[in-house]
Amino acid sequence: MHRLPILLKNFWGYESFRPNQREAMQCVMSGRDSLVVLPTGGGKSICYQAPAMALPGMAVVVSPLISLMKDQIDGLVGCGVPAASLNSSMAPEDRRATFSTMRSGRLKILYVAPERLLMDGFLDSLREHNISFFAIDEAHCISQWGHDFRPEYRRLAALKETFPDVAVHAYTATATPLVRDDIAKQLGLHKPEVIVGSFFRPNLIYSVERRHKRLEQIAEIANRYRGESGIVYCLTRRNVEELAIDLHNEGFSAAPYHAGLEDDVRHRNQDAFINDKVQIIVATVAFGMGIDKSNVRFVVHAGMPRSLEHYQQESGRAGRDGLDAECVLLYSGQDYHFWTRMLEELDPEPHKIAMRKLSAIYNFCQSAECRHAALLDYFGETLNVRPCNSCDVCLGRLEPVPESLVISQKILSSVVRQGDGFGPQHTALVLAGSKDKTVISAGHDGLSTYGLLNADPRESILDWIGQLTAQQYLERPNGSDALAVTSKGWLVLRGEVTPRLMRDVTHQPIPAGAPITKAPRKKDDAQWDGVDRDLFDMLKVLRRGMAESLELRAYLIFSDATLRDMARRRPSTKKSLLEVSGVGQYKAAQYGKDFLKLIRDYCAAHDLKMDLG
Ligand code: ADP
Ligand code: MG
Ligand code: ZN
Repeated sequence: MHRLPILLKNFWGYESFRPNQREAMQCVMSGRDSLVVLPTGGGKSICYQAPAMALPGMAVVVSPLISLMKDQIDGLVGCGVPAASLNSSMAPEDRRATFSTMRSGRLKILYVAPERLLMDGFLDSLREHNISFFAIDEAHCISQWGHDFRPEYRRLAALKETFPDVAVHAYTATATPLVRDDIAKQLGLHKPEVIVGSFFRPNLIYSVERRHKRLEQIAEIANRYRGESGIVYCLTRRNVEELAIDLHNEGFSAAPYHAGLEDDVRHRNQDAFINDKVQIIVATVAFGMGIDKSNVRFVVHAGMPRSLEHYQQESGRAGRDGLDAECVLLYSGQDYHFWTRMLEELDPEPHKIAMRKLSAIYNFCQSAECRHAALLDYFGETLNVRPCNSCDVCLGRLEPVPESLVISQKILSSVVRQGDGFGPQHTALVLAGSKDKTVISAGHDGLSTYGLLNADPRESILDWIGQLTAQQYLERPNGSDALAVTSKGWLVLRGEVTPRLMRDVTHQPIPAGAPITKAPRKKDDAQWDGVDRDLFDMLKVLRRGMAESLELRAYLIFSDATLRDMARRRPSTKKSLLEVSGVGQYKAAQYGKDFLKLIRDYCAAHDLKMDLG
């Protein structure tokens, strides 16, 4: 165990463990079966990779996706770790090469696809090797309850049967207890140590906005991240196509991705995005599985997904490198209806569950509660950090409305007076005192609530109606659009309870000359502290050129986090280069010279201090 920090430093260039990594590695070192649940980007891979280097023999890693496997192997080999893979897509000579290093006893980590592992006699043939342990990555694939069940994973129970004395370790980012138990059961884990980390990812800055001008809202975000990577998720293929073109016309580098595209087009677009040749990928949910791109700086949802499970997984693809990233969800009542229609085809029982999930995410959108707290709460974890400092609510983009009670009473009484069958849009028009013909023809311009909120922007009125719904003072019976006051709502009308209403400060008119950015900014921008941004950009260019000539993915050379640390410390020698986080011995030897030269030249030209601590 004491060797692990040294291995971490020498091979990966990391100074310290991330939360739960030490405990997870301890299980591997002591040969005790384990189930490790950490969020995306939590650093699960190294939990088995570092111990594999410390233990005698060869570790066998089961991984479901060939694309991921290739990334992992390239990454490991790039750090000087003897690793190789076996899967069905390999050329015979590559496969032979893997077998030959296996026989030589030099291989420390073997990645295999499950179908390959369970192929005729392969498991038996592994008996000839000294297997240190088995690691099952993306272990939720074994559970039918998970979102990504793969039947071939089911047969992995054979591992314990064939190798009763070899430890098996499972890794997943799936948060539900049901799936966790199922994984342990299906794999036949023996008294596993279960390690569950926190799913709070403070580097992800969440915000939710009502969608009013889709393209403008997305362009505003993308503009703040010029030259960086982002994903825009859409609900339909048509939306993907339209938005990709719109963004392109606005001067962004964007490409579409959905299951209806020709295979080669889809792959080309995906690769261009992964290799930083296209900045924005506009995609349906079909995009993302098996993509470990670490430097995604923003994930925008152009429409509301159908569940918080989906939202957590998709938005979680941002900021794997631990650097700040932004997750923005643009929603509208239309999305709710879109899903209601889509889900109609389900059988009664699944329909009920799906509708419950849909309501949960719709309430998440409309509520004015800390986003991180709400997400964690949904998955059964309590967030103890308040304010979280990483969401629109906590960063003060939403501010409490002092006259909450009176405003709520105006809204609720308007809903009562309007009578049955009227939705949020109509209610907002009435309260705003609109002359819209729907209001006039319903005779609602004669109501006592007509125009009562005419001093507030209609966006705010809509937000408040949503917030009252999320807090269950209003309801939409039977999944329709029409609003009704609940029994809790009547308490408000009688003045016995005060709802918590928030105002989006960005809905207020922006004074002339004020900065137009709407970004919820973290108060401490420590991740950029001391970083020379121009140098950082130049290091990225150097990295990209190298990646192209080496046919490697750019982030496998050095991550963005590493380049930022480089642009902060500005090492002048190989020794100080090794102090940069993410620079191990092997990479320093491999790429050090070029990076050092660029840094030295840049610092000389700009008269900058080097070798900062
Ligand atoms: P997961 O599989 O849990 O989603 P990964 O294993 O892909 O996460 O790791 C995410 C990123 O964090 C990778 O770039 C990895 O190199 C980095 N990382 C992992 N452990 C550490 C550590 N102790 N210090 C710094 N970076 C780390
Ligand atoms: Mg992983
Ligand atoms: Zn918060």
